Formats: sequence, C-alpha cells, structure tokens
Amino acid sequence: MAKKILIIPGDGIGPEVTEWGKQTLETVGQLFGHQFVYDQALLGHAAIEATGQPLPPDTLAKAQQADAILFGAIGHPMYDNDPTRKVRPEQGLLALRKGLGLYCNLRPIKLFDELVHASSLKPEVLRGADILFFRELTGDVYFGEPRGRRDEGDTAFDTMIYSRYEVRRIAERAFQAARHRRRRVHSIDKANVLESSRLWRETVKQVAAQYPDVELIDMFVDNAAMQLIRDPRQFDVVLTGNLFGDILTDEASQIAGSMGMLASASLGDKTGFYEPIHGSAPDIAGRGIANPLASILSVALLLEHAFGLVAEAQAVVRAVETTLAQGWRTGDIADAQTPAAQRLNTAQMGQKVLAALAVPETA
Ligand code: NAD
Repeated sequence: MAKKILIIPGDGIGPEVTEWGKQTLETVGQLFGHQFVYDQALLGHAAIEATGQPLPPDTLAKAQQADAILFGAIGHPMYDNDPTRKVRPEQGLLALRKGLGLYCNLRPIKLFDELVHASSLKPEVLRGADILFFRELTGDVYFGEPRGRRDEGDTAFDTMIYSRYEVRRIAERAFQAARHRRRRVHSIDKANVLESSRLWRETVKQVAAQYPDVELIDMFVDNAAMQLIRDPRQFDVVLTGNLFGDILTDEASQIAGSMGMLASASLGDKTGFYEPIHGSAPDIAGRGIANPLASILSVALLLEHAFGLVAEAQAVVRAVETTLAQGWRTGDIADAQTPAAQRLNTAQMGQKVLAALAVPETA
C-alpha cells in the first residue's frame, strides 16, 4: 500500500517526539511491506517565524492532499506570556482543524499495567481503566460568534453554540464505537444551566434510540470531573463538547500516568490528523528528554483509522507495552524505584520501541 503522510513537527518538543513517530512508520513499512511517502509542513510558531502566518496556505494545501497527517505540537512561551499578540500559534491549529473539517477528536485513555504506579491516583482505583473519549472539535465556545469586548474593553464575551447536526454526527460515531467496546456511552453536558447543553442532551437521546444495545448515561460535567477520579472504570465511551472535552481529557490523562503517554486522532470525513495530546512543553524543549510514546501511539491510531491497518497498529501498541514491561522509562513516567540505568532520553526510548517492534518475540 503506498500512502502519502504529511509530517507537521510544529514547535518545542513537537519535532523531538515526531521524529520517533516517523521512524515507527518507517519500521512498520519495512516490516509489513507498505510504502509510506512523506512530506513536511510548518504550523504554529515555526510557521509564523518563517512566513508570518500560523497556517501558511502551503500547509493547508499539503494537508488536504495527504492520506493522513502526523502532527507534533505547537506553542511558544512568547505568546503564552503576551495575550495581546494578534498572530498566535494556536490559531494555525484551530484553522487547520476547521479547514479539514475535523469535528471528532478521539482520545483513548488506557492505563498500561506497568505504569499503574506512575499515576497520582491509587492503583486499586485505576487498574483496568480504559476510556475512549469523543470530544467535539469544531464547535462550541471556541468557535462561536459573536465574541469580543465591549464597555471599552472592560467586558469580554464568547458564545457557546451547538447545532443539532454537529451533535448528531459525533454522537453517531461514539455509539458506533461503543458497539465494539463495552456498550456504554456517558454523554457529558451542563444541561441544568446551559441551553446549548439542553440541545446536546436532546439530540444524543435521539441518536441513542437507534442503538438500543448501547446504554446511555447523561452526566453533568462537574459530576463527571469528580467521577473520573473517584471511579474511572465506570466509563467506557465518553461523548462531550469541545470545552468540556478539552478539560476532562487533560484530567483523564492522569489516569494514564503522564501527558507523554496519550495519543489522539482528529477525524472528519476525509484526511485525519494524528497527534499526541500534549503541547510543546517549553519547560523541557531542546533537552532531548521528552517522552516519544504519545507520538508513537499516535502512529498506531493513524495506521488503524486512516489505513485500516489493524494488525500493524496492534504491533505498535504491543511494542510500547513490551518496552514498558522491560522497565524502560523516560523521566515523566519514572518513579523513585526506577534504577538510573533504566531511565532513558527521547532517542533511547524511541530506539527501544523500534527494537521491540522489529523483534516482537522478545515480548
Ligand atoms: P504541555 O502539554 O506542553 O506540558 C504540560 C506538562 O507536561 C509540562 O510539564 C511538560 O513538560 C509535560 N509534558 C508534556 N508532554 C510531555 C512529554 N512528551 N514528555 C514529558 N513530559 C511532557 O502543556 P502546557 O505547558 O500547558 O503548554 C505549553 C505550550 O503548548 C503552550 O504554548 C500551549 O498553548 C501549547 N499546547 C499545544 C497543544 C497542541 O499543539 N495540540 C496542546 C496543549 C498545549
């Protein structure tokens, strides 16, 4: 199979971890006899520096022509520390998601047994947690109009908005996925207060009626934030909007031990976008110590969802499991018991996974 993959490394640790995602693709290609053709493009701060724009037209054009996109992260402290800057890296990412019609963000939160002690939660609460988030990605308060300032800048407002169409299309995907899992969907909203949430709840119920074999549980977002920590195993598929999903998935990342472990897929009707959930991590950028496993696991999602290569995707996940079972750790997932000799930098961790992938019988 010959496929065009666009690599967008981005900023900070983005290029450092994406290098290992790409090498994982290369190794899978060699082992399974697939031909992956790569192109590269700029986004975020790197794109602003080179072109003045966070999403150069060339990047959008390449993205639209690719079969899949592997992305790193964007962001730079110069913007985070100066909210008055008009041109910002995250505008590039939001515009690209919008331009590709990526309305569905898929975030698996799976705890690898070996990392049960890396989380700040108790092992007995966590063990076996396996959640699949469906976060709506192109609507809600992040895109709603009008937005702005009034009263000479002393009052600010944004608009939380959802259409029935937007809710229905992501709800359909969530219920379909639940059929291949434990057949339970938690729909998270704030319907006791927000009108947009009342439409959300009404629409999800209509979709649920077509899936009588899947249980629907409505939950308010404040309760969900608490339940995720209290008893994460009660959740199977979690369906929610853009803002609530943004916050809950970061919270849920602690179930998996580290942001550096979590991958995501952003899907629309055409080219999908695969990326770690973490940002550009300026606090560790340039030191070669970032955990590349989220990028490598993003490749597993890419192989499965963009190309239907399920065996290849499983091989990548198994290689990560093997590497962790062998005791190898980057700093973010090491604990006090991890011996110095088992602590790895980015490149060493990437090489261990590639070695496990190439020789799966060492598992
Ligand atoms: P962040 O995810 O970059 O970092 C949060 C913490 O997790 C940091 O301590 C960081 O060192 C650690 N971390 C993250 N990824 C890691 C990895 N692979 N290995 C080891 N440790 C890791 O979030 P932040 O600090 O809130 O944001 C930094 C910048 O990233 C900001 O400019 C923000 O706007 C941007 N950001 C971008 C994206 C994206 O590109 N999708 C997502 C979130 C934040």
